[in-house]
Amino acid sequence: MARYIFVTGGVVSSLGKGLSSASLAYLLKSQGYKVRLRKMDPYLNVDPGTMSPFQHGEVFVTDDGAETDLDLGHYERFTNISSKQSDNITTGRIYSDVIKRERKGGYLGKTVQVIPHITDRIKEFIKKDITNEDFVICEIGGTVGDIESLPFVEAIRQFSNENGKSKTLFIHLTFVPFLKSSDEIKTKPTQHSVKELRSIGIQPDIIICRSQQSISLDQRKKISLFCNVPIENVIETVDVRTIYEAPISFYNQKLDKQVLKFFKLKPKKRANLNPWKKITKIVLNTKKSVNIAIIGKYVNLKDAYKSLDEALVHGGIANNVKVNLIRIDSDNLKNNEIKTKLKNVSGLLIPGGFGKRGTEGKISAIKFARENKIPFLGICFGMQMAIIEFARNKLKIKKAGSTELEGKCYPVIGLINEWDKDGKIIKGTNKNLGGTMRLGLYEAKLRNNSAINRVYKSSSIKERHRHRYEVNNKLKSQFENKGLIFSGMSPDDKLPEIIELKSHPWFIGVQFHPEFKSRPLSPHPLFSSFIKASKNHK
Ligand code: GLN
Repeated sequence: MARYIFVTGGVVSSLGKGLSSASLAYLLKSQGYKVRLRKMDPYLNVDPGTMSPFQHGEVFVTDDGAETDLDLGHYERFTNISSKQSDNITTGRIYSDVIKRERKGGYLGKTVQVIPHITDRIKEFIKKDITNEDFVICEIGGTVGDIESLPFVEAIRQFSNENGKSKTLFIHLTFVPFLKSSDEIKTKPTQHSVKELRSIGIQPDIIICRSQQSISLDQRKKISLFCNVPIENVIETVDVRTIYEAPISFYNQKLDKQVLKFFKLKPKKRANLNPWKKITKIVLNTKKSVNIAIIGKYVNLKDAYKSLDEALVHGGIANNVKVNLIRIDSDNLKNNEIKTKLKNVSGLLIPGGFGKRGTEGKISAIKFARENKIPFLGICFGMQMAIIEFARNKLKIKKAGSTELEGKCYPVIGLINEWDKDGKIIKGTNKNLGGTMRLGLYEAKLRNNSAINRVYKSSSIKERHRHRYEVNNKLKSQFENKGLIFSGMSPDDKLPEIIELKSHPWFIGVQFHPEFKSRPLSPHPLFSSFIKASKNHK
């Protein structure tokens, strides 16, 4: 049976539970173990697909088309293990499953209650779809003590009781503040947080203390004593200089060692930290930089383009250059400002997006990049905007637009309701907003001798999608006659997946989201190539 590691958080949110879980997963994987990472989110949305990035940050999409929490992106980037639909669950999903079953009479007349019915469903999720994994690391969103996370914490308590203490490990991540005025570290919030956990029946086995300052042995002893955890299991994690240092830092603090010791296991091979050391060195020491502008609606929110920001850094790592992101809010972008705002920029990126607001600014910026031969990467909505720009300004279709944005337009982008996925027809609907998009991995065929063909060094690729609208394929020859070619198509030749400009050093638009598949240890070819072109631009 797999061993289960549950990661809870205390004192405050945003302590880096995701990063800690992902780092631990890397360390266990690199010592020869098979690991799976899962996230339980305590909110009532069935999935984060309909949540605004303003509220919740990016929606991460998996190969199998699940719209999930952005922490799954961290997991994938650190472990290179592709997440699945079955790796993320929310309170909303749990309740909706239980209520659906109740409506069908599935509970045989019983009173349906949080305990046992909701907690049973949570335990089913924890165990589902696990085959020969050695470790399943489950992160519980939110902070211990929140009303929302209570059923999850109760469920993991029951899980441990039912599956055996030796098969389940509880890690609690807390905040250990440093008070400047008294020049000392305070352990009291950690003590309270552990007390809160214990009041619901969970005794943590390992406490990870997040702190801005190193925690002295005396303070660790205090935490050990008050929280009833062996001193060697009180692990400190001091802020790292870059997230790529996290696996190294946890290794130095012996987190993986204590986890293996708990389960009475030995490493099957030595942990390999060299790739992280190499990346950390590049990220911290590289002097050369390149300015990349991102024009989007959510640029002011830190996590709204998480995978994209990361993928650009990966592209920088591949080219030994630091990527400076110039974030430009599309809402306030005036046409006459574009020239000045893009003055010192070596590359322009228009990311995915939804809705009319801010689109005209994006279209004008694309025109500027096209005419001034600035490297341009359009992702999903960004590619659609590039099509609109080209149709208006080169094909002279003045009313060219997307049916997503305006009722009356010449639809160069239109709503599609069916997609062919590996020979199976997937149907969309425009009635509900949740779960009705073209989602997950789809194949695209690349044209020989095209720029994209050279980027991928392959004639067939699979990338992750998340959109409802598609480029109108009927206009293909008109576009191509003017120099914008459809260099990547769906296997049935119906859907344009990639566009590129012939007479431009680097101008590519893709209907999918390459950022979801970029990894620090293997940067995505599109981002490496885009950054390379931008580096050569000036
Ligand atoms: N809004 C566009 C669509 O639904 C693009 C979505 C995106 O960029 N992810 O097709």
